[in-house]
Amino acid sequence: MKNKQILVVEDNELNREILMEILEDRYKVLEAENGQKALDILKKYKDEIALILLDVMMPVMDGYTFLKKMKAVPEYSVIPVIVMTQGDSEEDELKALAYGATDFVPKPYRPQIILHRVASIINLRETAALANQFKYDRLTGLYSKEFFCHKVRELLRENPQKEYDIICCNIENFKLFNDAFGVYAGDRLLRMIALCFTQLADRKELVCRFWADRFVWLRKRTAEYDDEMFLELDRKINDLPNAKNLSLKWGIYRIIDRSVSVEQMCDRAIFAADSIKGQYMNHFAVYDEAMRDELLRKQEIIEDMETALEKEQFEVYFQPKNDLGTGKIAGAEALIRWNYPIRGMISPGEFIPLFEKNGFISRLDQFVWEKTCLWMKRWKEKGYPVLPVSVNVSRADFYQMDLQDVLSSLVTKYGLTSNYLHLEITESAYTENPKEILRMVEKLRKKGFIIELDDFGSGYSSLNLLNQMELDILKLDMGFIRSEMTKPADKGILRFIVELAHWKNLQVVAEGIETYEQMVRIRDLGCEYAQGYYFARPMSGQDFEVLLNEEFGKKIHDGKTGVERRQ
Ligand code: C2E
Ligand code: MG
Ligand code: MG
Repeated sequence: MKNKQILVVEDNELNREILMEILEDRYKVLEAENGQKALDILKKYKDEIALILLDVMMPVMDGYTFLKKMKAVPEYSVIPVIVMTQGDSEEDELKALAYGATDFVPKPYRPQIILHRVASIINLRETAALANQFKYDRLTGLYSKEFFCHKVRELLRENPQKEYDIICCNIENFKLFNDAFGVYAGDRLLRMIALCFTQLADRKELVCRFWADRFVWLRKRTAEYDDEMFLELDRKINDLPNAKNLSLKWGIYRIIDRSVSVEQMCDRAIFAADSIKGQYMNHFAVYDEAMRDELLRKQEIIEDMETALEKEQFEVYFQPKNDLGTGKIAGAEALIRWNYPIRGMISPGEFIPLFEKNGFISRLDQFVWEKTCLWMKRWKEKGYPVLPVSVNVSRADFYQMDLQDVLSSLVTKYGLTSNYLHLEITESAYTENPKEILRMVEKLRKKGFIIELDDFGSGYSSLNLLNQMELDILKLDMGFIRSEMTKPADKGILRFIVELAHWKNLQVVAEGIETYEQMVRIRDLGCEYAQGYYFARPMSGQDFEVLLNEEFGKKIHDGKTGVERRQ
């Protein structure tokens, strides 16, 4: 039962002993002989202390100074304090209450009175804390999402004439900040941003942390928003200690139609902020009709995905991969397409990010792998040389299935060997839990699958990761090649990467080759393979078969049935 802890701050040893005797049957008791010692204890045990009993007259640091200091620290200030006053000094009692004490007890001590007061204050605080738990965000002390929405509804109802906007703020590179400085520093930064928001907001406005690094603010309407206002806010936040180079995006939803739910209003402001992700020049965006249509389209995609899979609206396309030495087709990449009724073909750029978020990607990927194996089996049966085909593997796939088992069963089912199925994994897949993914990749590689690192150079490429990974092939992102051709300052990087890859015994595939000049450049640098519109666009399985026939058909008639694999 003795699970509650009380801190007794009293310089007189005898008094401490008396208090100990009164309390120790029911509570665990910590002791401090002055205010300074008490602050040291608070620093260590702040979360475990249910109440403080405080004497006012003490050497080193008296009770009032202690009260003042502890009330200034938000985490300490919630702990109730009972001040022990001399006799019936009204002046002492008033002063204690003015400094933030919860209650007082006069000396000399009367055990039953002390026990009752302590118990009822602890009880009161716990009940209040329980109620507040749902109202406030634990990390920042701002309103919780639910309570914020409740308060906004109330405010809108009570002020039908006033005009408000919902403003959302998103820190674009917060994940990077967390990775670089650690979660603790990240939390501290969020707390400081929260404080900054409370200072920015008017007394009649409301602020909450919606989730993670997203803050939402109900603000009185400003006629027009401009960059200057948001740049000023960015500066304020970036002026916080440690918060250098935070890139912030602001989204605004103008509350005109009050029949829209508050949750939806917030979602729309967040959507507006997200719409300018990665756009260096844009600091804020106002939710408009075009965004509404886009949001609806996204909802529609999610609603229709299951049916689309059932009704075979998804189709696997193949984009040839060419050998730069011979100029011949050396393989392909399987890419998903969605034959959407009415709208026609929609590109994966539109739906893959949504499916990655809701997990559907894993089912879709398995569909692609299966169809790819089916086509490969068919081409093999028709006598075409067996060419390796690369399939994309999402980060979610590592967590949602036993990859090794699923992929091995697939190749066996279709009479293929695992080294003809190449697995493309993007570098970003490694960012969250690199060890686990590295381990799984190693297992897959032992099973014979060929591992390709996709989109290398598109994100924050880490040479360190390149060093740790068990890899076979490096796929250079198309942006890499483009900037090498256009920005003189980037010259040399590509050569360096290709040389590094070769030194690590990796083959290199250049993606997105669109022109003759690009092809010559990467060929001269020593890339083994290339993929891109210059050679061919992604095409249906039937069309790819026609291509195979053009390229290898004659050989089949010659009786030659295979090309040598180049790994
Ligand atoms: P990715 O894996 O890097 O695929 C290459 C993308 O570049 C493809 O876009 C391809 O059509 C496009 N591309 C190829 N050559 C050129 C070129 O010369 N110029 C330009 N501008 N683009 C070129 P796509 O098919 O739209 O796919 C986009 C991304 O969607 C893929 O990037 C991949 O990350 C993802 N994806 C596609 N299919 C699947 C799939 O079945 N599963 C998973 N998990 N992701 C997929
Ligand atoms: Mg790919
Ligand atoms: Mg790629």
